Amino acid sequence: MELQKRLQTVENRIRSACEKAGRSRDEIKIIAVTKYVGVAETRQILAAGITNIGENRWQVAKPKWEELAPLADWHFIGQLQTNKVKDVVGKFAYIHSLDRISLADEIRKKAVALGITVSCFIQVNVSGEKTKSGLAPDELSAFAKQVGAYEGIRIVGLMTMAPHVADPEDARPVFRGLRRLRDDLNRSGVLPYEANELSMGMSNDYAIAVEEGATWLRLGSVLVRG
Ligand SMILES: *Cc1c(COP(=O)(O)O)cnc(C)c1O
Repeated sequence: MELQKRLQTVENRIRSACEKAGRSRDEIKIIAVTKYVGVAETRQILAAGITNIGENRWQVAKPKWEELAPLADWHFIGQLQTNKVKDVVGKFAYIHSLDRISLADEIRKKAVALGITVSCFIQVNVSGEKTKSGLAPDELSAFAKQVGAYEGIRIVGLMTMAPHVADPEDARPVFRGLRRLRDDLNRSGVLPYEANELSMGMSNDYAIAVEEGATWLRLGSVLVRG
């Protein structure tokens, strides 16, 4: 399938999920996850109007970032080792995988040195699968309280990965759980500001994620591979 057709299919599904849930289409942004493809294909995606680009490893992102950096907003969506923070902060406007204090300390240090603020999502392991990273839901409040006071970091919302399930409907409770955690967090006032974004939904389950309140979809194979 052509990129345009794939985009159209995604767009149609997002719109019908919005309709079903009574949401407005402009609440939802698409991140094209380009980890499977190179510079040329990433350039096509940008030309098609998707300007948020997601990558999960710096080494894989590097050739694309070096070539295309000013044309996109860059999202780091993968697990981030503390010793890799120096490669990411200053290049990626968003980090979706903030899940521990040692990582927040490192991001702060680098951001403050550069005089910038990095927009971060706190990753939460809503499903509780042992293989998934992210904070346990009951750790979220104390973590947000601490990091919310950090210079150089702005918590913009929460991120989760749903389990791989045959029927995407089974991912719904995980998405709903993340939305509730966000609502509780904002109600509790532990952050000095509101954090409204929900980074959730991938190729196999994004329609359900939209129905449950996603504001950022991370779409790889459905966009770049058809
Ligand atoms: C690869 C990846 C995605 C995109 O996955 P697809 O199933 O190809 O859409 C989304 N989020 C993260 C964290 C990823 O690593």
